[in-house]
Amino acid sequence: MSETYDVDLFVIGGGSGGVRAARIAAGHGARVTLAEEYRVGGTCVIRGCVPKKLMVYAGRFRDEFEDAKGFGWTLDTPRFDWGVLKHGRDAEVARLEGIYDANLTRAGVAVVPQRAVIEDAHTVRLVGSGERVRARVILVAVGAHPVKEPAIPGANLAITSNEVFALESLPERILVVGGGYIAVEFAGVFASLGSRTTLLHRGDRLLRGFDDEIRDALGDAYARRMTLRLGRTVHKLERGDGAVVATLDDGGTITADQVLMATGRRPNVAGLGLDRVGIETDAAGAIPVDAYSQTVVPSIYAVGDVTNRANLTPIAIREGHAFADTVFGGKPACVDHRLIPTAVFSTPEIGVVGHNEDVARATFGRIDVYKARFRPMKATLSGRDETILMKVLVDCATDRVVGVHVFGHDAGEIIQAVGIAVTMGATKADFDRTIAVHPTASEELVTLRVPAVTKHSVAAG
Ligand code: FAD
Repeated sequence: MSETYDVDLFVIGGGSGGVRAARIAAGHGARVTLAEEYRVGGTCVIRGCVPKKLMVYAGRFRDEFEDAKGFGWTLDTPRFDWGVLKHGRDAEVARLEGIYDANLTRAGVAVVPQRAVIEDAHTVRLVGSGERVRARVILVAVGAHPVKEPAIPGANLAITSNEVFALESLPERILVVGGGYIAVEFAGVFASLGSRTTLLHRGDRLLRGFDDEIRDALGDAYARRMTLRLGRTVHKLERGDGAVVATLDDGGTITADQVLMATGRRPNVAGLGLDRVGIETDAAGAIPVDAYSQTVVPSIYAVGDVTNRANLTPIAIREGHAFADTVFGGKPACVDHRLIPTAVFSTPEIGVVGHNEDVARATFGRIDVYKARFRPMKATLSGRDETILMKVLVDCATDRVVGVHVFGHDAGEIIQAVGIAVTMGATKADFDRTIAVHPTASEELVTLRVPAVTKHSVAAG
C-alpha cells in the first residue's frame, strides 16, 4: 500500500536556501509548505548581507566627502543621522521581505509563520499550532545564529550582529570583538559613521584563510581608520558609568558604549528533533550531507548554513536549487564548492576568487605570483593615503589562473567579473590578450607582465 502525504516537500526555514528550494520544487509541480519562525528572507535579507551593505554604503560617504575637497568641492561639515539610515534600511528590508513572501505564494508555496520541528522521517510538527504535517521529503534550511565565544563573564552585556540592526543610536564608542568578515565589516561601518571604534582580535592578523598580503594590507588600512588590537582577548565585561568595560588578557581595559561580539556562528539545530530520526551533527554542530544535500535519513535533506559547507547566500541558493532539481525535477545536480568568488565589504574592499598564495603553492607546487601595488588615481588629487593591491596566481604547469585577489575600491564588483574567467579556466595568456580598459584600477589585472616571485615548493623541487 503506498503511503499518502499531506505535502511532497516540507521546508523548514524561509531563508536564502529554503525559499529557493521551495519555489523551484513548486515549479516542478511539487506540493510545498514552508515554515518560517521569524521573518521570510532569512539572515541575508533581514539581518545579514542586505541591511549590512546599506550600512556600508552609508559609511562610505565619509571618504567621498573628504575626497571631494581635492577636486575643488567645498562642503559644509557633513552630519550623519542614524535615525534616517535606520528608518530607510528597515523599510527596504520590509519591502524585500514582502517580495519574498509574495514570490512564494505566487509559486504556490504555502507559508506557515511558525517554528517547525522534525517528529520522524516524514513528519513535521508545527510548534505553535501543534499540527502535524506528513511530507514525502523534508528540507532542513534553518541557517545559523551568532554565538559569543569563548563564554566570558558579562557576555550578556555585549550584542551580536543580530542586535546591531536594532540599535536606536550610533554608539559613540564601540568595541568590536572578532577577526572574521562580519567583525571586519561592522568595525569598518562604525568607524566610517563616526563611532570611536576598536577592533580586537585574538589572532595576529584579520580574516583567517585569506591571502596573507591582503590581510596585511587590510590591517594597515584599518590601523589608520580605527584602533586595531591584535593578539588580544577579552576576559570579562562589566558595566561601569553607563558604559561597558572590557578587561583584556593583558590586564588593560577598553570602555565602550557598545560591545559587538562577532566571534562566530553555529547552526540552528537545537530542539529541531534531529535526534528523533538519528541525524548526528558534526563537531561544528552542522548537519552532514552528501553531494546532493541528502542526510543519512533518505527523506531528509539539508542546505545552507546549517550544513556549514560555505556559509554564503549564493551557496545556500545554489544548494536549494540543486536539491529541488534533483528531487523534484528529475535533473540530478550538485554544487561545486571548489571555486567561490567572494567579497569582504570592508573599506577598502576585498574581492577573492580561487586559492590564496600559500594554498596555491601547496596545491600546485610551482606558481607564479603577479602583483601590483599602487595608489589609486583618485588619491592623487584627494590626497587619501590608500593603496590598491592586486595579485594573480598562476599554476606554472598549466598557465591557469588559480587565484585572484583584489584589495581596493569596488573589489567585490571586480571579482565577480573576473570570477567568470577563472571559473571558465582562464590562463594567464587569456588575461594577457584581454585589452585593458583605461584608465581603471582593474586594468592592472591584464597588464601584469613579470611575476613578482616564482615559488617552488619543496615537493616540486
Ligand atoms: P538563513 O538565511 O539563516 O535562513 C534560515 C531561516 O530559518 C531563518 O529565517 C530562521 O528564522 C528560520 N528558522 C530557523 N529554525 C527554524 C525552525 N525550526 N522553524 C522555522 N523556521 C526556522 N553572505 C553573503 O553571501 N554575502 C554577504 O555579504 C553576507 N553578509 C552577511 C552579514 C551578516 C551580518 C551575516 C550574519 C551573514 C551574512 N552572510 C552573507 C551570510 C548569509 O546571510 C547566509 O549564508 C545565508 O543567509 C544562509 O542562508 P540559509 O538559507 O542557510 O539560512
